[in-house]
Amino acid sequence: MTHPDHDLLVATALGEAVPEQVSQHLELCSECGPEVESLKQVIDMTRRSRDVDLVPPPPAVWAAIEAELDAPLQLTPRHTEATPTPPRHGAPRRSPWWLAAAAAAGIALGSGVTAAVVNRDSPAPTPSVQTVAKAPLDTLDTKTSRGEARLVRVGTTLDLDVQARGLATDSGYLEVWLINSDLKRMVSVGVLPAGVEQQRFVISQDLIDQGYVIVDISREQFDDKPAHSGDSLVRGTLAV
Ligand SMILES: [Zn+2]
Repeated sequence: MTHPDHDLLVATALGEAVPEQVSQHLELCSECGPEVESLKQVIDMTRRSRDVDLVPPPPAVWAAIEAELDAPLQLTPRHTEATPTPPRHGAPRRSPWWLAAAAAAGIALGSGVTAAVVNRDSPAPTPSVQTVAKAPLDTLDTKTSRGEARLVRVGTTLDLDVQARGLATDSGYLEVWLINSDLKRMVSVGVLPAGVEQQRFVISQDLIDQGYVIVDISREQFDDKPAHSGDSLVRGTLAV
């Protein structure tokens, strides 16, 4: 049986229009159908987790910031189009003149001023952390568990949180990869430092949407070959 191109599976999972023959194939094929379902779940979960409410700071915080800037620095409020990420769901828009003012003050008086103004009375909001998918990290030969990778949404970023132990490097170092479910494409996510059992790597929704859902840790040598060594120690597929 000829299976449709992987891009068409991803397109289907994303809800895009695909040729009639592809839809028919997916209904019948015991390999492609479940793969599309799995892709759909991971994509849905990562997308849903993005719809978190960003809470604007309470008025008292703004007042404190404005007071802080107004008095000693004699700054004139002015409108600027340099808006930060707008709050979702129609929260009242606030002209952030103080951002420009703080930046200007930082440049004129030293960046310490900016940091002090921003930190005072306005503790950085703790971003929400949400696990959207997990992958067991098992050895390829004996399927021994060596840890777990989690796809976590931290605020507005998507991280791959890798926990692994007992991975002998002997020589060389450990590299984390995301392999496409077509098993033809892969991207390097980063290096897992020696002796570190947990590390977070920033990835993107795009990668997940394209089907990069297999987590792989390989042993790499200090050579001039940036490609995957082929020496995979553990691997697992992200699933909800
Ligand atoms: Zn198929």
